[in-house]
Amino acid sequence: MADLKLSETRDLTRIERIGAHSHIRGLGLDSALEPRAVSEGMVGQTSARKAAGVILQMIKEGRIAGRAVLIAGQPGTGKTAIAMGMAKSLGLETPFAMISASEIFSLEMSKTEALMQSFRKAIGVRIKEETEVIEGEVVEVQIDRPAVAGAALKTGKLTMKTTEMEGVYDLGAKMIESLGKEKVQSGDVIAIDKPSGKVTKLGRSFSRSRDYDAIGPQVRFVQCPDGELQKRKEIVHCVTLHEIDVINSRTQGFLALFTGDTGEIRAEGVLFIDEVHMLDIECFSFLNRALENEMAPIVVVATNRGITTIRGTNYKSPHGIPIDLLDRLLIITTQPYTKDDIGKILDIRCQEEDVEMAEEAKALLTHIGVETSLRYAIHLITAAALACQKRKGKVVENEDITRVYNLFLDVKRSTQYLMEYQEQYMF
Ligand code: ATP
Repeated sequence: MADLKLSETRDLTRIERIGAHSHIRGLGLDSALEPRAVSEGMVGQTSARKAAGVILQMIKEGRIAGRAVLIAGQPGTGKTAIAMGMAKSLGLETPFAMISASEIFSLEMSKTEALMQSFRKAIGVRIKEETEVIEGEVVEVQIDRPAVAGAALKTGKLTMKTTEMEGVYDLGAKMIESLGKEKVQSGDVIAIDKPSGKVTKLGRSFSRSRDYDAIGPQVRFVQCPDGELQKRKEIVHCVTLHEIDVINSRTQGFLALFTGDTGEIRAEGVLFIDEVHMLDIECFSFLNRALENEMAPIVVVATNRGITTIRGTNYKSPHGIPIDLLDRLLIITTQPYTKDDIGKILDIRCQEEDVEMAEEAKALLTHIGVETSLRYAIHLITAAALACQKRKGKVVENEDITRVYNLFLDVKRSTQYLMEYQEQYMF
């Protein structure tokens, strides 16, 4: 128990700005890797998207090991959006870990330990497991939370939510009785023999926490072909090295989680480090070494800095990244958006946030986006929708946009204000 606590508190926190990018569902490329003008939530930025697509292709073909990608561009030009698009196109099977470089400067662990942990979160291991399955028509259920087992015992219904099968599965009285005897708990895999109603505990298993997060409390449910005799059944789990570390630190240990024979195949993963200029020289040297490791995931880094000081030194370099590391990177640049692109992105965000906006108001917001920044304009959508709600309106109009524009300053106006009133602030 003490071990478990330790690993939980020492886990590097992941900041996911999922809300801001929830509209991104992929890179929006066609089968020839050509970017569609507006697709999968992506707008414009065509050459960067195409380059990212080519890199993904190389990742899928296993031809880019040990290399890293740099996405460089001005603030708010979609660097994170492109990285998210890459992650979404890789699918759930591929591990994708995302950190902001400043996160690794934590008091809980050393910088390199934190970086190492991020690396291990992005390295996937597929574990093949063969389990004995009892004869007859067998269904296999993996219980991920004790609450699910408890609820099933009470109601006799298990709710299935997986890609393979969804719905509510009725348990017979015998199964409930048998399930109760087995004392199933979180992580258990049980087999239910439908004709006899017998429940057998097959062992413990583990499903990727990312699937888990996506699906919520879940029960894995695999049904064998009707009436066929199934002696052995193969289950493939995909876990990251970090997840194995966490499991390993528990008292039962790693092996307690898997039954039968296991084999391991490595799956390609991606580690995204945002604000990479925040890393210091020690971290860069760690990265250089780590990239040479044959287990290294594809590292995608992003920065909005130009020529700047490398943290921890007095030297300046492009993007604040040492030249030797820079030399290993495939560099993708993002370009500032056109008015048309900004309008389309705002349109998509309105849909995503379920905000109805009059054409005139959209034009005004687009104009604000061009004059200030895309991100500021995106923020105004939510605020304007609230202003609209307050006056009991249904559609966001010019007046709502003007109101929140006056309420919240953008960077330019905030700077102007500070220059005028700076004597009144503390130094
Ligand atoms: P920073 O340098 O400040 O971290 P960034 O380049 O990472 O900025 P993002 O955060 O990706 O910029 O973009 C700002 C917002 O605009 C996000 O909500 C993002 O999802 C959206 N966005 C950016 N580019 C696109 C695009 N091409 N298509 C759709 N949405 C986009």
